[in-house]
Order: sequence, then C-alpha cells, then structure tokens
Amino acid sequence: ELDISSPSEMTKVSVAVRVRPLIEREKKGDAQIHWQIGPQDLRPFDPEAKRIVPNSSTYTYDHVFTQSTQTQQVYDKVVSPIVKQAFKGFNGTILCYGQTSSGKTHTLYGSNDDKGIILLFADHLFQQIKADETGRQYIIKVGLIEIYNEKVSDLLNSYNPIELQERDGSIVPHGLEELTVFDIDDWKKVTERVQRERKIGETRMNKESSRSHTILRVTIESFDLTSNGSFDEAQENSEQSPPLTTAVLHFVDLAGSEKQSQTGAEGERFREQVNINMSLSVLSRVIQQLSEQASVSSFEGRSSSNDHSLAKAMVNSMVRTAPRPRFINFRDSKLTRLLQNSLNGNAYISMVCNVTIASFEETKSTLLFAQQAK
Ligand code: ADP
Ligand code: MG
Repeated sequence: ELDISSPSEMTKVSVAVRVRPLIEREKKGDAQIHWQIGPQDLRPFDPEAKRIVPNSSTYTYDHVFTQSTQTQQVYDKVVSPIVKQAFKGFNGTILCYGQTSSGKTHTLYGSNDDKGIILLFADHLFQQIKADETGRQYIIKVGLIEIYNEKVSDLLNSYNPIELQERDGSIVPHGLEELTVFDIDDWKKVTERVQRERKIGETRMNKESSRSHTILRVTIESFDLTSNGSFDEAQENSEQSPPLTTAVLHFVDLAGSEKQSQTGAEGERFREQVNINMSLSVLSRVIQQLSEQASVSSFEGRSSSNDHSLAKAMVNSMVRTAPRPRFINFRDSKLTRLLQNSLNGNAYISMVCNVTIASFEETKSTLLFAQQAK
C-alpha cells in the first residue's frame, strides 16, 4: 500500500512557543508584563505605557500556546502528528528549549494537575497499538540519556558512559541500557524510574541553572507475526525476521539557554557554559538548515520507511531536480550527533520554546532562537 503524505499535511520542522503562567516568585516580586500574546505571535509590550512597543517586531510561529494552555493542547498540535508518523516508520524529535525555569521540564514531564508530554505520549502510543488491526506486534524500548559537558551518559545505568557509534549509516548509543516495554503497566514502571533518575540528575546539578540535556529515547518496532506464528518465536527468530517498521523518537529537555555572566565564570563553570552555548547554537544551525531543505523539496525524506520502497523510487525521481542540500555537520556536537537520525532525512521535528511574559531580554533571546529555526 502506498502512503505518501502530502507536503501540506505536515511540515517537517514545526516551531511552537509556550508561555507559562507566572510563578510565585514572579507574582511576589511585582513582575511586569513585557509581551502581548496573539494567536500565532508575540509582540513586545511596554508595561509602563501599557501598550505594544511602537514599531517593534512581531515574532510569529506555527503555534503559540498561552498561559492557560494545558499540555494536552500542546501534545495534540505538535507531538501527536509525529507519533502518527512513527507508526509508519518515521523518526522524530521533540525539543523543549528555553531559559531555566521557563517550563521545559513541566512541558515534558508534567505535574499532578497537568499531564506532561511523556505521559500523554504513552497513552497515545498504547491506544494506537490497540487500534492497530494489522495484527502486528510492537516492541517499545526506552532509554534515558544525559549530555553534560559533551559527555554522554546513561541515566538508567549509573551514569555509564555511552559511545555514539555509526552502524550501517545510523548513530547508535553504544552501551545504553534500554528497558523493554510491552504494555502501559510496563511503561508506568519505566517512567517512574525515569522520573526518579531524572530528578536525581537534576539535583546533582546546580539548582539555579540546568546545565545538561536530558533525552528520553523511545524505539518503536513493529513485527509481522503472520509469517512467524507466535510472538515468542518471532522474537527468537528476530535475526531472520527484522522489524517491519522501526522508529526512534527523542524527547529532549535542553539545557537552560540563559547566558551566564562571562565574568566570574571560570574553570569547569566556564567550560560548561561554552559547551551549552556551542551545542545549542549547533542545534539551531542544524534545524535551520533542515527547514530550508524541507521547503526546497518537501517530498524528499518522506519516502524511506522500510516498506515504502516503491514510493521511495517515485519520490526520488520527483526530487531529482531539487537543489543539492547544504552539508549539515551533525558531528559538531554530541547532541546533534545523537539526534542525527531523528533530525535528518525522513524525520519530523517539533520544537517547543518555553517563555515567560515576565522577562523581556531572556524571552526575546528565546523568541529569536525560535525564529531562526524556522
Ligand atoms: P525548566 O525545566 O525550564 O527549568 P520548569 O519546568 O521546572 O522549568 O518550570 C519552572 C516552574 O514553573 C516550576 O515550578 C513549574 O511547576 C512551573 N511551571 C512551568 N510551566 C508551567 C505551566 N505550564 N503551568 C503551571 N506551572 C508551570
Ligand atoms: Mg528543567
């Protein structure tokens, strides 16, 4: 069966801004409102004059989520389409960007009264699996990775170092312990562990600033049982029967994007900051180049799922005349290297940029970053 998504159905790179509600600290410290939020844009607001700053720029995005948005709405607009593509074998990346305490972790991992993306994803994932009428069997694998100071380690396995290796053109996090999940109950156990290790990781770091990237890596594999009989047999014979589809999704809680004051930052601190700035700017460059390519040939890369070889041939002939894409250097940082297969080619990317209207400069720098990515 042929399935080529129409280019208008989904953009390859989507950029959203999420404004979080004011937090206690801001409410107490008579915070001022510096931004006016429109349906798809933000504009600088002058709290003294109580009006939009005259002749100021308008910052426009695919989606803008206001203070009153639940994460479910963010999920439906920016994550759900990627998960649907994952069932067809396409990789995807969900990135949460922003300064420390802008709401990145809240968006991904949620709170008691606002389910985060990870939980909503699990509900969606198992609902999709249940609704699958092809009789396929799914295996889900979950790993949790930290990148700190250009060192990659396994958060579910005592910070064991992970080596990014290239195998058959794919980047593999060698040494990563991945937990296998068959149903929602397994998933709940795994996410409890993920939450625990993630929080330990968070407190291990300096509280004022999140200096590491935390990446939840989920692999979704589907197997055809009709030719193999039972699932156990299929697993035993996995050498002979490769998965029908494989998709890797990365959910990325990025390091805080704030600029540290350069004065006073010495030694380890200074190196940390250099590495954070470096990996975020490499990420921005990579995403920018990917979205340029996507707008040049929006068909390309939608075609190389395992079971779409005819579609692939068709699409390749269609894009032959497209300009050659610029060379993208994923090797420039560990982050882009790890995410390489979930960013390039046939992958879908959503970036959620988290901001507060109570800050002008920090929010502006996030908005500019978000705009550059488009
Ligand atoms: P970050 O991960 O970017 O450093 P957090 O996710 O930890 O920021 O958010 C900082 C604070 O703001 C936390 O106390 C969090 O509960 C709160 N917060 C963030 N986003 C929201 C939101 N959408 N709704 C309610 N509270 C939020
Ligand atoms: Mg955080």
